[in-house]
Amino acid sequence: MAYFKPVTHVLFDMDGLLLNTEDLYTIGFENIASRYGKKFTFELKCKIMGQHSREFAGNIIKELDLPLTVDEFLVETRKIFAELFPQCKIMPGVEKLIKHLSKHKIPMGLATSSSKETYDMKITRHQEFFKLLPYKTYGSDPDVHRGKPNPDIFLVAAAKFPQKPAPETCLVFEDSLNGVKAAVAAGMQVVMVPDPRFDRSLAPQATLILDSMEDFRPEIFGLPRFY
Ligand SMILES: [Mg+2]
Repeated sequence: MAYFKPVTHVLFDMDGLLLNTEDLYTIGFENIASRYGKKFTFELKCKIMGQHSREFAGNIIKELDLPLTVDEFLVETRKIFAELFPQCKIMPGVEKLIKHLSKHKIPMGLATSSSKETYDMKITRHQEFFKLLPYKTYGSDPDVHRGKPNPDIFLVAAAKFPQKPAPETCLVFEDSLNGVKAAVAAGMQVVMVPDPRFDRSLAPQATLILDSMEDFRPEIFGLPRFY
């Protein structure tokens, strides 16, 4: 059995991990690609997951050879997402885990590549729940210079905890490979809860890979167990 080191602080990615917004991104990108007779594939999706909006826009345009500028692409996606994001749902097992850790006063933070603006859209129906994560870092944070798979966002997020925990005492939850790489580069352990279609052999660096957050047992990382 793999050896898990005890942790004191927890950081969560948001898209596809806490919220089902990755499915909504897929719907939006498929819609735009289809207008130009192109197909937005799962392989391309895996490549861009976790990136900042300007980064993923540029990569999709390049890979699919779309006749759009980054700004034009973002204007089109914004129209679609303004309708889709406020309807997003919390992923299975997430509420139970975060409420449990919150009750036990485990310091928790959010580390999302989303801008504050899109974050606000996504949490429209989940305002109270997101208050359980007091420390928040967005992709639009001026201290986050480089997107995932670079470690910036997790280092900035960990530095927001008043206790200034060492990276090895922080546990990250991620759904994307770029996010897993970012967490490992930051020196943190990372639990991956990927899309079921994801090829797990591509993420040997993940500390643990789960089918669902419902399968997570906090005690293996020294956190309070469910009872
Ligand atoms: Mg994600």
